Amino acid sequence: MSEIQNKKGGISVESQHIFPIIKKWLYSEKDIFLREIVSNATDAITKLKRLQSLGQISSFENDFKITVSLDKEAKTLSVSDNGIGMTEDELQRYICQIALSGALEFIEKYEDESTSAQNGIIGHFGLGFYSSFMVSDTVELITKSYTDAPAVRWVCNGDGEYEIFPAERDEKGTTVIMHISESETEYLDSNKIRSMLDKYCAFMPVQIYFDDSEQSEDKENKPINDVEPLWLKNPSDCKPEEYNEFYKKVFGDFRDPLFYVHINADYPLNFKGILFFPKLNNEFESVEGQIKLYYNQVFVADNIKEIIPEYLLMLKGVLDCPELPLNVSRSYLQNNTYTAKVAAHIVKKVADKLAGLCINEREEYEKVWNDIRTFVEYACMRDKKFYDRVSSSLLLHLTDGSYVTRDAYLESAKEVHENTVYYATDADLQARYISLFESQGIKVALFEKLIDTQFISMLESYEPNVKFVRVDADVAGVLKGDGKIESNEKIVELFKKVSGKDELEVVFESLKDENVPAIMNVSEQSRRMEEMMKLYSMSSGGNAPSFPLEMKMIINTSSALIDHLSSVCETDIDKAEKIAKQIFYLSLMSQRNLTAEEMKNFLDDSYGILKNY
Ligand code: ADP
Repeated sequence: MSEIQNKKGGISVESQHIFPIIKKWLYSEKDIFLREIVSNATDAITKLKRLQSLGQISSFENDFKITVSLDKEAKTLSVSDNGIGMTEDELQRYICQIALSGALEFIEKYEDESTSAQNGIIGHFGLGFYSSFMVSDTVELITKSYTDAPAVRWVCNGDGEYEIFPAERDEKGTTVIMHISESETEYLDSNKIRSMLDKYCAFMPVQIYFDDSEQSEDKENKPINDVEPLWLKNPSDCKPEEYNEFYKKVFGDFRDPLFYVHINADYPLNFKGILFFPKLNNEFESVEGQIKLYYNQVFVADNIKEIIPEYLLMLKGVLDCPELPLNVSRSYLQNNTYTAKVAAHIVKKVADKLAGLCINEREEYEKVWNDIRTFVEYACMRDKKFYDRVSSSLLLHLTDGSYVTRDAYLESAKEVHENTVYYATDADLQARYISLFESQGIKVALFEKLIDTQFISMLESYEPNVKFVRVDADVAGVLKGDGKIESNEKIVELFKKVSGKDELEVVFESLKDENVPAIMNVSEQSRRMEEMMKLYSMSSGGNAPSFPLEMKMIINTSSALIDHLSSVCETDIDKAEKIAKQIFYLSLMSQRNLTAEEMKNFLDDSYGILKNY
């Protein structure tokens, strides 16, 4: 056994300048030092376990653990492991040379803060052991190798001068004692340390205990981490409650997620993760999701947008990607084929999940459909490939409350109308039309969300054989009865006059429903054009250019009221005008809201009629 002599040393002149840089550097990311030190401790234990499993150590142990201790009086924060430890030689080599040159290389690369911001390094992995100097004046390391080499103590101050002493330590492993600087006392606050451990170390693979010197005795001594996070397990071994619990804990939501996708991608992608569809309150709620990136169970960064397509960003989840380089930067992720493949795999998995739910868990799927539909529609609009994968899992929500796939809708309707989906955009406003359709046995789908107008246009472009027609569009064809149709020029003139619209198209049809004297139709194309103009002017902040709607008034020749109007026309034109005006407004009203002026006229006329009743 070699005797350890007291030794003094200095970090080489060339590298001395890194200490001041480490100290003031990475200000906003200082907290990562704890992750670096704790993950070194984890590595040390993993190495020992490996030797054990290779049979290179005779004794067998499994009580591996890391203890993070805070001593406010001594102003120290320590991380202790019972891993592989280091001999004096190894300490010289690993800490004084390799770790230092690693840190130096890292700093040289990212020294200029502006470049580091530009590169957007998201993990800051790589600074390693020396990151402890971001918060410490002096760092002490006491280590004993798993071999029978004697224990060593290494003390290094913030100027890079170190000393090595013999040390008293019987148990193999390493303790890193950080003497926290005067300016960094926040790292002596146990809540702060606890929250850092929760953020960075919650899923590290070795049990981590936090020994807070203020802890009362009855406090349960439990590890702060979960050494086998759910994403590592085989999906078939995980229960739905476990996913819900994991989601709530990791993302601090009190509600269950709508559903989840557990991904276990093999070589060459080699990543694992769980993505959750969160429950949102409404269509307009901020949809910022949260993807947490891990590297072999070590937290790297939050909110990684680069690894998931923008249209799935409302997802929350965890991804563990050991294939990513340690110093991963945003620009690297954005322009990287591996990331693109990961994103494509995620898209496929999400789409497969939707398809699977639609087929195998239909009841559950219908329950969540209205919550997820805006996102699914948006994703379809952004990515035709995604659409292709989910097209047969898109549901139509019908006005009778049921849900059907588009294929099922078209199949069941084919006797009455072919390749057309009838829809309403406002169930209340269009109630009259909806009931006309329903009385004919024709189902009406609801498309009430803002995004739906564009979604419908997209559907028509992807599926040119299917038409979407709103219930108030040119629908006389499907509502036709078999009564006599007689045109009447006087009635045409009458409606043009009372509507004040000379261009109003008035046509005669015999409709099945005899109680409806007239319906107003607006051509699907001109209405869509008007909606687009509105949307455009909303986004450009200008006034909507007025776009003439092609209105068509359909007079129902099967209606007794129209018969009555025809005869009054012959005898008392004033009275006929009054009746026609009421019919005009009532049919307009069941198509859209009246303008203020129309409403005033309608009310005045109605009161006038009541006066003579
Ligand atoms: P990295 O962990 O990326 O190799 P570090 O600078 O963090 O770089 O550490 C350098 C080396 O120091 C490690 O590779 C390891 O050999 C040694 N080391 C650091 N911490 C410990 C520890 N707790 N136990 C044993 N060896 C350690």
